[in-house]
Amino acid sequence: MRRPYTLGRCACCGGNRLLKYAKRTHCSRYRCQKAAAALLAAANEDAEDDLAPTFAKSIEFILGQRFCDPEELNDEKRRNILSSSDFKRCYLIDGIFATSASDDGFRGKRWVEIDELVEKISEPDLDTALDRWMTTVAADTKEEMARLRNTAS
Ligand SMILES: [Zn+2]
Repeated sequence: MRRPYTLGRCACCGGNRLLKYAKRTHCSRYRCQKAAAALLAAANEDAEDDLAPTFAKSIEFILGQRFCDPEELNDEKRRNILSSSDFKRCYLIDGIFATSASDDGFRGKRWVEIDELVEKISEPDLDTALDRWMTTVAADTKEEMARLRNTAS
């Protein structure tokens, strides 16, 4: 059985994050997973206990956007203006995540930083998914607000 993941200081980015990779030393942020994958490849031992890093392979739907993860911010940062180093453009991706391009992977939902999307998803696919998200979400939100205001009165 896998050991449970714990919150801790990521050996790569230094953030207080859920540690899942490279013997529970790296978080699931893109560059940290990449570093963990490199460590795994270099060590090439004890791999069974290690979770292979997985990256976004394709997008079914984009479910949301965020510019920071409050979980990663300490109390002071949470109540103050977001600094540029804490500003991270992420999308909630409902899609296929895989260890490599040849891996079929699995369906999942995960917050993904935009640099991972740019590197792993083809430009037309990413543009299409983002366009679809921006147009449908903007329209849906206005409709939902109108519906809520009508039912409230
Ligand atoms: Zn990290």
